[in-house]
Amino acid sequence: MNGKMPRKPILAANWKMNLGRADEAIAFLRKIRPGLSEIEGLDLVLCPPITVLSALAELLARTRIGLGAQDAHWESSGAHTGEISNAMLAQICQYVILGHSERRATRSHSESDEAINWKVTAALEHGLTPILCVGENLEQNRAGQTHEFVSGQVKAALAGVAAKQVERSVIAYEPIWAIGTGEAATPADANRVIGLSVRGALAELYGEDTAQAVRVQYGGSVTVENIGEFMAMPEVDGALVGGASLKADFVDLARAAAGR
Ligand code: PEP
Repeated sequence: MNGKMPRKPILAANWKMNLGRADEAIAFLRKIRPGLSEIEGLDLVLCPPITVLSALAELLARTRIGLGAQDAHWESSGAHTGEISNAMLAQICQYVILGHSERRATRSHSESDEAINWKVTAALEHGLTPILCVGENLEQNRAGQTHEFVSGQVKAALAGVAAKQVERSVIAYEPIWAIGTGEAATPADANRVIGLSVRGALAELYGEDTAQAVRVQYGGSVTVENIGEFMAMPEVDGALVGGASLKADFVDLARAAAGR
C-alpha cells in the first residue's frame, strides 16, 4: 500500500457481446441497480455492448455506478469503418476496457501491443480511464514465462504515458487460461503476479510511488464464492468480471467485494 493514500477498490463488469438489446439490458440493469447503488467503499463500473451504452448512461446518471466501453480506436475520427473512438466515448462514459485478450487473440482482432499503446494514450487524452488488460496464456504460464510476458505487456502498453496519467489508469491482470474456464488463478498467484510483474513493471517505469498508486484488478473466473479471497490479497484492488457479471447475484458479488 502507498503509505500516502489507500487504493480504492474497483469492480468492473465486462458484459462482452451479451445483453446488447435495449430491452434486455435495461431490464437487467433495473434488477441490479438498487442493490449496486447501496454499495459503498468500492468503485463499480458496468461495461455493456456499445449498442446500449447511451441507454444505460441515462439510467446510471444519478447513481455512483460508472459506465465503460469494451474497446475504442486510437484516432478521434476519420476513415475507420465500424470503429468507435475514445473521443466519442468520452461523451457518454468514463471508462474503457483496452487490450482484452479476446481482442488480442489472433482469431479475433490480433491487437498488437503497439495498437494498445495508442489506444491507452488516446483514452487518457480524452479523459477516459483505461482498464488495461494483460495476462499470459497457458503455455507461457507452464513454461515459467509469466513474469517476463506480463511485465513486457505493461511496459509496451504504457510507452510514452506520463506518470500522472498512469496513476489514474486501472490495470487488469487476467491470465488467459482463467478467463471463462471456471479455473481461476489462486489468490496467492494473482497477488504474486500483480505485485511482481505488474507493479514491478510500473516501478521500473515510474518509480515506487506511482506503482503503489495504480489500481490493479484480477480477472478470470471470479465468482460470488471466490471474490472475497481475491479482495483479501494486498496487491489486488478489485476484479474485472465477465460471466458472473451477467447474473443477478452480481449484486452479492459486489457486496462481497466491498466486504459486506
Ligand atoms: C473477462 O473476460 O474479462 C473475464 C474475466 O471473464 P470471466 O469472468 O468470465 O472469466
